[in-house]
Amino acid sequence: MATITLVQVEKKFGDFQAVKPIDLIVDDGEFVVLLGPSGCGKTTTLRMISGLETVTGGRIYIDDRDVTWHHPSDRDIAFVFQLYALYPHMNVRRNIVFPLEAQGEDKGTIERRLAEVVELLRCQHLLTLHPGALSGGDQQRVALARALVRRPAAFLMDEPLGALDADFRETMRAEIKQLHINQNATTVYVTHDQIEAMAMGDRIVVMSEADIQQVGSPSEVYYDPSNTFVARFIGSPGMNLIEGHYLEGIAQLAGDSTYQVPENWRSVLDRTLKDKKVLVGFRPEAGQVKEDGAINAEVYADELHGAHTMLHLSLRGDASESIIHVRARRGLGLKIGEFVKFDISPEMVRFFDAESGKAIVAEV
Ligand code: ATP
Repeated sequence: MATITLVQVEKKFGDFQAVKPIDLIVDDGEFVVLLGPSGCGKTTTLRMISGLETVTGGRIYIDDRDVTWHHPSDRDIAFVFQLYALYPHMNVRRNIVFPLEAQGEDKGTIERRLAEVVELLRCQHLLTLHPGALSGGDQQRVALARALVRRPAAFLMDEPLGALDADFRETMRAEIKQLHINQNATTVYVTHDQIEAMAMGDRIVVMSEADIQQVGSPSEVYYDPSNTFVARFIGSPGMNLIEGHYLEGIAQLAGDSTYQVPENWRSVLDRTLKDKKVLVGFRPEAGQVKEDGAINAEVYADELHGAHTMLHLSLRGDASESIIHVRARRGLGLKIGEFVKFDISPEMVRFFDAESGKAIVAEV
């Protein structure tokens, strides 16, 4: 397998900057997910790696080969699209072995590789069928088999599960991940679905507005987002961000509450946000409704999420009416409009500069 390195790679379509200059290293055997909203440049980035799109600037390396201007077929990369792109007139077996025949592999090699991928993807029973007779999930499985059979240096996948219904998506998600574990194949995977990204990625590259916002493990982008975009985009619902004004260890929050920042944050906040606007961030599970909580709120709505309740709260006295999500145990018996108080777990609170949107980095 291979390492993929992007150095200041960018793409313009005329005057339009689809991808700003980005740097990224995908390690050998790593599963990296490009995640972001529609139009942020994920597919264009993947297509530049594959060679289907030329770069406007920068260099692309596969291991230490500079492939920036190599033809796609000379990059030793397999591409799996959302659309299965199987040949409808060939049966599954021929679809899978086609790339090997095209490469001129001998019969013995073809049979051996076919047997391997068929076992791996459990599609023996499909071999004699034509694509038209297969379910969406099976078609995608065959498309994966066709990509795997070549044993490329790396896999690029663009929303390969996008066309599948929810059940199949989950099954295929697990299969692709399992496949990755078995093969240890360097993979770059594009999705706009943050749950998919969190479930599958060794690392996630969060993109927005043609740029990389953060590169990190699922738990890094979840617990330590580098800015407010990542904080809101990751998680369902995203991170709560309460606006306030910071001075001397106290954040005066929107509405009528004051929040005493944990002692370990005090010196960095004194240095960076003294007498400035701050955003106090926390995940819904980091809020605890309790009688002696410091933050005053009002119940706006509640949703039963099976094992727990997701409370939608508005801060008491906050004219902006922004909604805070706090996870609570089932059966609290709160009514809409009722006043409550909550606290934030000190180890789960994060702070952002309200002007720049950047996270304040905790001092170790
Ligand atoms: P999606 O999930 O919707 O595919 P994406 O993050 O993959 O989004 P890209 O397809 O990479 O986004 O597109 C990035 C931007 O570049 C978009 O604004 C898109 O309209 C634009 N774009 C993509 N291809 C071209 C092209 N061939 N010519 C002009 N603009 C393009």
